[in-house]
Amino acid sequence: MTINWTGFAKKTPEERRELLQGLPLSDQSSAILQADQQLPLAIANQMAEHVLGRFSLPFSLVPDVLVDGQLYHLPFVTEEPSVVAAASFASKIIKRSGGFTTTIHQRQMIGQVILYDVSDLEQARQNILAQKEDLLDLANQAYPSIVKRGGGARDLEVKTYQDQANFLAVFVKVDTQEAMGANMVNTMMEALKFPLEQISQAKSLMAILSNYATESLVTAKCAIDLRFLSRDKKEARHLADKLVLASQFAKIDPYRASTHNKGIFNGIDAASLALGNDWRAIEAGGHAYASRHGSYQGLTTWTYCPEKEQVLGELTLPMPAASKGGSIGLNPSVQLAHDILGNPDAKTLAKLLVSIGLAQNFAALKALVSTGIQSGHMKLHAKSLALLAGAEEHETGPLVQALLQEQHMNLATAQKILTDLRNNG
Ligand code: NDP
Repeated sequence: MTINWTGFAKKTPEERRELLQGLPLSDQSSAILQADQQLPLAIANQMAEHVLGRFSLPFSLVPDVLVDGQLYHLPFVTEEPSVVAAASFASKIIKRSGGFTTTIHQRQMIGQVILYDVSDLEQARQNILAQKEDLLDLANQAYPSIVKRGGGARDLEVKTYQDQANFLAVFVKVDTQEAMGANMVNTMMEALKFPLEQISQAKSLMAILSNYATESLVTAKCAIDLRFLSRDKKEARHLADKLVLASQFAKIDPYRASTHNKGIFNGIDAASLALGNDWRAIEAGGHAYASRHGSYQGLTTWTYCPEKEQVLGELTLPMPAASKGGSIGLNPSVQLAHDILGNPDAKTLAKLLVSIGLAQNFAALKALVSTGIQSGHMKLHAKSLALLAGAEEHETGPLVQALLQEQHMNLATAQKILTDLRNNG
């Protein structure tokens, strides 16, 4: 059954939930959705330490994200106004332009065992490489269940660092299947510590996964028809040129690149959080990748194709997404998020996350090089101020309208207008 998303933004949460009943959700997910069921306290208490309670955030939906010819409805968890609206706006335009196309380059995680005080770095390197197969076997014996699932340690490399501490790092590539793999890789790396100390005649410093997941790169591309930038063709062409310039500037100026990339992660983090994924790991890998050329750069690239009259966007990121493991099976909202998406595998989740990052960047750049982001943001800011001032639902509309007329919009102004509205109403 296809869902008619027209007017989705204007519906109430109850009406939106009703509409989602058109998706093939499990009975359990339907119940979670209808009851707005939260994480049970007993489970929360197992997930982290010193738990006092639960902490709520808005759970939203970005409908109709077209990736590799298939439509997905992407759950978002974010406290930031305008992020969901921007992702939805961009996804709609990109869908009308043919959607995203993606490439999964590889899907392995990297673990490191770091040794120091290695007296003969080259000899240690050769000795370790000579025992590569035995070391991979040892890693796999430390986590046999991933081998049974078709994954496991696949390759091993050695890097030496000639300096005061004579460091040597062993990099192990692990196929973690549907999991992000932090715990399984860490278990494997710890099992290699002692054998590596013996082989290299050195001491181990640590054994841990690297979040710079360069063996899990994913590329998302889109080609946006010029007509979607503006109805006026000349203006649309002008905006396309400015979009390309914005992408170029983010490659040369880290102050801009940081904000450019923050916008990308507005979408990726919101979807990762909804999907119970380790968004800190995804962020860390993304920012390291942004620095891979020696300076911190914007992660997306936008160019203009005059023959097709299209703006071409591209984003490549390390994306260690997971459909299993961590807290994914524990949180009812996370289970619901996966079910809304149709329970895709980890590779599909990775494609979706990179695509939504590209969409979010398009929305931000389009606003920045045209009207600026404040016109949209201020409406949402006014709404937040109205809520903070204590407006009831029926008072929010008039208060927001009045606030938007003010030169300086702040909480004091909102409170004053609300008092006036109540006195006059
Ligand atoms: P888990 O430790 O939860 O391991 C994955 C689990 O998923 C295992 O229990 C595994 O079962 C199960 N599973 C079921 N089906 C599959 C399948 N098809 N493929 C793979 N696993 C499957 O998670 P990870 O090892 O992925 O670690 C992620 C967690 O570690 C996150 O919570 C993360 O925040 C945290 N973490 C992150 C660090 C970082 O630096 N980023 C550092 C330390 C922790 P079985 O055991 O039977 O195979």
